[in-house]
Amino acid sequence: MSAIALYARASAGFDERVAHAVAVLQSAASEHAGRIVQATSLGAEDMVVTDLIARHGLPIAIGTLETGALHPETVALIGRIEAHYQLPVEVYRPQAEAVIQFVKTNGAEAMYQSLELRKACCGVRKMEPLARMLAERNAWVTGLRREQSNARAIVPFSEQDDAGRAKINPLADWSWNDVWHYIAQHNVPYNPLHDQFMPSIGCAPCTRAIAVGEEFRSGRWWWEQEGAKECGLHVSQTKEGTAA
Ligand code: SF4
Repeated sequence: MSAIALYARASAGFDERVAHAVAVLQSAASEHAGRIVQATSLGAEDMVVTDLIARHGLPIAIGTLETGALHPETVALIGRIEAHYQLPVEVYRPQAEAVIQFVKTNGAEAMYQSLELRKACCGVRKMEPLARMLAERNAWVTGLRREQSNARAIVPFSEQDDAGRAKINPLADWSWNDVWHYIAQHNVPYNPLHDQFMPSIGCAPCTRAIAVGEEFRSGRWWWEQEGAKECGLHVSQTKEGTAA
């Protein structure tokens, strides 16, 4: 069954939440002109954000992390975005030598061995490329929603990251049903893996399908304790566990 059939639902206040998300993006784009990027994970929420940026012609760059461990369907979405919206996507990859060294030292399945090794892998494949994406930027846009996990329950529309950059979360108050209602309404391209019971998609070794009744992010790093399930992109160093 498709994710649209499963999840797309209109609910009270939807149009107001869309309008508010657009206003948040417009205000951030004008405040940080030329220095703002959407760091898209290529997940359903981020596809909505990209659509809002494209639909309203907002001057916000679009960047993504190609970790070298993504599903082919996820990688293919980069080209689909460029073709659908006629917009370039900045692609940031890990440093090849660092990946080779990490795998040589720790093995291809290091992420399953310990939390430290899993975070080290995320460091090489995600955090370092993200730092390059954000290097010349004053602000970044995410698809974080409060509903995604307990750790994200207090996500504000705008906050400051540890480096002092503005972090904009225009979908903070959206529900999962809102996300899919928008995708259905606007024919937004999305990862076909969402149709295979993968609501949250990361790297292939660290993502699995979920069963009915399981929590939204239970398919990510499923072998770890709930509190550990962040890759570091959205975890404050001063308030570990806040938002992502
Ligand atoms: S999500 Fe998994 S494969 Fe991807 S960078 Fe993190 S540990 Fe490595």
